[in-house]
Amino acid sequence: MRISLDMDSVIAESVLPTVKWIQENKGQTFEVSQVSSWDWIQDTFKLTLPEVLDMYGKIWGGWWNEVPPTEEDITSKVQKLNTIGDMMIVTSANPEQATGKLKWMKKWGLQNIPLVIVPYNATKEALPFDVYIDDRAQTCLEVAKVGKLALVYRQPWNAGLEESSNLIYIKDLNEAIKQLEERGVSC
Ligand SMILES: [Mg+2]
Repeated sequence: MRISLDMDSVIAESVLPTVKWIQENKGQTFEVSQVSSWDWIQDTFKLTLPEVLDMYGKIWGGWWNEVPPTEEDITSKVQKLNTIGDMMIVTSANPEQATGKLKWMKKWGLQNIPLVIVPYNATKEALPFDVYIDDRAQTCLEVAKVGKLALVYRQPWNAGLEESSNLIYIKDLNEAIKQLEERGVSC
């Protein structure tokens, strides 16, 4: 079983530095629960493209050390997943952000896991994985459409998808572990 594990908002709580960037640059704040899509942030705060690029550059290029994990015991949970199948962390990043993401992985004891970089907003369903743990609704829908298993990491911005045998919401990584252990090598 080949497992694709997303990074932003699945193992790394990168929405928190997003809140910080908006505070510092727009003088406004928001709650994570308000975010109905990633476009919501750009639309609500009327971000220009250079601002969007600056924001994402800051989050991983400059502030990687301030990005908390999404869950307690992130290291042991991710390493447990890594024993269930061949796992890679699959994420989008420019070279500067990729450097920050690698440093973050090392800080949290995940440096043994390969990091795969895909273009920003690229869909992942064509990559050679059987299972995708991801918070992006579009990615999960496309993964499920081609018959692969999408484990949807529940976030305010991915609510309302119709669950099926190969599109399942998980509230945390322990649920992902449970799902994959139950399915065993059959997927
Ligand atoms: Mg994500």
